[in-house]
Amino acid sequence: MAKELFRPLYSPPGYKYKDAKALGMLRESETYWIRVRHPASAVCACKGKRGMPHTFRESTKTNDKSEAKAQLQEHKKNLVKRHANGGASVSNQTFSDMAARLRRDYEVNSRDVVTLNFRLVHLEGAFGIRRMIDITRD
Ligand SMILES: [Zn+2]
Repeated sequence: MAKELFRPLYSPPGYKYKDAKALGMLRESETYWIRVRHPASAVCACKGKRGMPHTFRESTKTNDKSEAKAQLQEHKKNLVKRHANGGASVSNQTFSDMAARLRRDYEVNSRDVVTLNFRLVHLEGAFGIRRMIDITRD
């Protein structure tokens, strides 16, 4: 298991990372970074990575280890919290569930169910197996 709190290595000015590494000249960052594994179910702010497991990295902008640790805990807490509210109920809905509900709604309100069904059949073919959350998010 990779460390969730770490200080990245960087090359000194004028050296490429690869060269500095070969020469054993890499320096350790003063500030701590957090590295957290986001599962597919995570409702996080990582663009284009939601819905698949990925690794989140961010500088804590502090060289105080306890402060960095607090930020790490906070990050993980927020991830779980966001996942717990909203995320779970919406993420398990498929387009088919939505369509079924929409159909009932139309029937109850005596709307044009035939037309609706006709439209939904085409959409379900395309989206039925995808979770609603994947469709509504960009
Ligand atoms: Zn993420």
